[in-house]
Amino acid sequence: MIALYPGSFDPPHLGHLDIIRRAAAIAERLIVAVAVNPDKSLFLSIDQRVSLLRDLTAGLANVEVDRYLGATVAYAARRRIGVLIRGVRSGQDLEQERALAIVNRTLGGLETVLLPAAAETVHLSGRLVREALAAGLPVDALVPAPVAAALRARTSP
Ligand code: ADP
Repeated sequence: MIALYPGSFDPPHLGHLDIIRRAAAIAERLIVAVAVNPDKSLFLSIDQRVSLLRDLTAGLANVEVDRYLGATVAYAARRRIGVLIRGVRSGQDLEQERALAIVNRTLGGLETVLLPAAAETVHLSGRLVREALAAGLPVDALVPAPVAAALRARTSP
């Protein structure tokens, strides 16, 4: 199966990387796609996120990194993808993902596979990383080393 793991990945963190590795182990091919949302303010640029994700997944032969604009179902249809991968950290994530999964199956014939967050990374979110940085705290325990380096470059004067 070809699977799609979509997200904003702003920035990519260790929770995302865990889901990518686990999804790559069960899918024939995994497409990690950065959703371009013109209404959302950017922390890292789309180009930076794509390039970091490519760097992080360079050792995974069946993983491709892409970007898309618009609805996930439309992108999945264009790329002939039938399965969506999502990570679940909490009951709140589960409720949201359940609703989204129904919409994606009804509108796009897209099935969803939910992977539970690992105990080591269940607390991580893009927002947590952004808030830690804004508070001047180190983020090395939250993101892979290349992302920490990119964030340091971004925040240094
Ligand atoms: P975030 O919430 O970190 O900003 P995204 O909005 O880009 O991440 O979410 C992309 C996907 O990654 C979603 O399916 C989300 O549930 C999942 N995800 C985000 N953080 C984690 C984590 N710590 N563990 C497992 N899955 C996660």
